[in-house]
Amino acid sequence: MSNLFDPTPGQDYGLCLTCNKPIPNESDKAKHWNGDGKGHSIRVLNESRAERIESHITREVEDALQSAFSSIDDYIARGHFTEEEVTVALRTVHVEVDDEWKEYSNGN
Ligand SMILES: [Zn+2]
Repeated sequence: MSNLFDPTPGQDYGLCLTCNKPIPNESDKAKHWNGDGKGHSIRVLNESRAERIESHITREVEDALQSAFSSIDDYIARGHFTEEEVTVALRTVHVEVDDEWKEYSNGN
């Protein structure tokens, strides 16, 4: 397993901007909010591995969508279908990304 998405070692997870207190780990964020830091705003300086992976995966899926939309746009530009026809067709597209992934990764 590579360390590409690991947080920077030895660096605090974040900083409370309200009381200027360091937040060493992600779990300390909830602890602070539930304790004496209720309503404080916390700046994340060193995202957790899960947060880094989440951002990356979100970007990948958004890129794939943009690519699909651009391809659909080309079909419209070539006069194969209209924007209205695409809108109607898209109503029948129900993609649950997590289910699709499960299916894909089980087939590999
Ligand atoms: Zn605070």
